[in-house]
Amino acid sequence: MSTAVQHIVIVGGGTAGWLSACVLAARLPDKRITLVEAPDIPTIGVGEGTWPTMRETLATIGIPESEFLATCDAAFKQGSRFDGWRDGSAADSYLHPFSAPPAAEMRALASAWQTGGASGPFAAAITPQHAVCAAHLAPRQRSMPDYAGALNYGYHLDAGKFAALLMRHATQRLGVTRIAAQVGGVTCAANGDIAALVLQDGEQLPGDLFLDCSGQAGILIAGQCGADWVDRSDVSFNDRALAVQVPVEPGSPIAAQTIGTAHEAGWLWDIGLPARRGIGCVYASRFLSDERADEILRAYVAARVPGTDVAALTPRKLTFRTGHRDRFWIGNCLAVGLSAGFIEPLEASAIVLIELSLKALVENVPQTRAAMDIHAARFNEVFRYRWDRIVEFLKLHYVLSARTEPYWQAQRAAETIPARLAECLTLWRDQSPSAWDFPRVDEMFPAASQQYVLHGMGFPVPLSGEDPSPARLAEVAAKARALAAALPTARDYLDRLAAQSAAARIPA
Ligand SMILES: Cc1cc2nc3c(=O)[nH]c(=O)nc-3n(C[C@H](O)[C@H](O)[C@H](O)COP(=O)(O)OP(=O)(O)OC[C@H]3O[C@@H](n4cnc5c(N)ncnc54)[C@H](O)[C@@H]3O)c2cc1C
Repeated sequence: MSTAVQHIVIVGGGTAGWLSACVLAARLPDKRITLVEAPDIPTIGVGEGTWPTMRETLATIGIPESEFLATCDAAFKQGSRFDGWRDGSAADSYLHPFSAPPAAEMRALASAWQTGGASGPFAAAITPQHAVCAAHLAPRQRSMPDYAGALNYGYHLDAGKFAALLMRHATQRLGVTRIAAQVGGVTCAANGDIAALVLQDGEQLPGDLFLDCSGQAGILIAGQCGADWVDRSDVSFNDRALAVQVPVEPGSPIAAQTIGTAHEAGWLWDIGLPARRGIGCVYASRFLSDERADEILRAYVAARVPGTDVAALTPRKLTFRTGHRDRFWIGNCLAVGLSAGFIEPLEASAIVLIELSLKALVENVPQTRAAMDIHAARFNEVFRYRWDRIVEFLKLHYVLSARTEPYWQAQRAAETIPARLAECLTLWRDQSPSAWDFPRVDEMFPAASQQYVLHGMGFPVPLSGEDPSPARLAEVAAKARALAAALPTARDYLDRLAAQSAAARIPA
């Protein structure tokens, strides 16, 4: 192995692997990038909701937005709606939108809402995005430049088509070498680094930096580098999902947000794409049998997608381990994607962690082996912080619930609540969440996100002390009306785009 880092080798061809290949090839054109994927080991095949970060990622790697939307059967995601989390009643619903006003503005709007300036839900008073989502509108007009929006947005997409697009883009446009082979082992250098991958036919593939994108197996980070597993199932109980894809009527509205509906021992996701809905039942196996989860899933589909032959559905069962590695970068191996860890799909924090890992890597790419351990130590510190905040934010959705089923009671048990979250909840009875609670400039879930959940769940957030001028609420309402008049429906936007793409024969 040379001391200069010239050849980066990626193991795995799922979303993590191909996103890594594209980002590294686009941002580090002087490096050689090779991706090895085992043709007989399937990708996980889910992961249909992204964060707004995906816009910058796609722009960086050079995929036009219209090509991405048309090729991946994608739609716009403007946040997550939580139904039934508070008490399970019919009126129990709140939105965690992607748009939030600046911190001081948010505090003033919250005060105005809390002092009776508006009668609707918190998010509706704070951001016009609530009204835009309710009307199934797109967050942008087609005349806008790629990746620009009137409101903040990410995407819902077909995970299989997305990985295929990334693979074509990486190999055909960005010069990435793809090898279809199973990695059977490695050879090590004297300092313990990985010197080369050993493929199943015995061939060796040397590299300077290795990205482990091998999914939950983590064949390099765990198998070779000895990272320990940090189990978080004591806090985050869900460990199973049943997933189906349900075709939709042509012309039917496309939901502007992921819908997460609570059930007796978990929740269901519902993601609208132009041609189908991806629906899944997430649950904790120690509280719910697979059979009962299957019943819950079919009942949901029957109620929410009328006309579906629910008996004919064949749900795919996914099992996941809840937790993450104790270190993500060891020696010359960096784990990206599921190989680094996974904490259930609520709030879709997995693909964004892939993007953040790649951003950290390309902005701090080691030019020689000598610098690598310093980068690794920093990376591990930053990402351990992120995993801890993710675990806490997801738990926040559960601890405030008044649902009475055993699963929900267990979610509220003091011993399952991380100490830092318990501290914050104590503080938030005296003062609303602020940057004092989330001090880093690049927090994944800043105070605004916490506020959306707290207010949505009916937590008694105190007044912030900002001037609660009702005029500010009127401005949000006026903006909502203006956007409603100006924005197309997501269905109209995407159908027109599909027709235009078909006519232009964008390769699928
Ligand atoms: C139920 C569920 C729902 C989810 N929903 C979301 C969501 O809405 N939003 C979100 O951000 N994330 C979501 N995720 C997470 C998301 O699916 C993953 O983060 C994403 O797909 C990345 O997966 P991956 O590429 O790391 O792993 P995988 O897709 O598992 O890919 C692993 C790759 O490694 C290869 N491989 C394995 N072993 C070897 C070997 N020995 N040699 C060579 N190659 C090998 C395989 O062939 C495959 O190509 C969800 C996850 C689950 C379980």
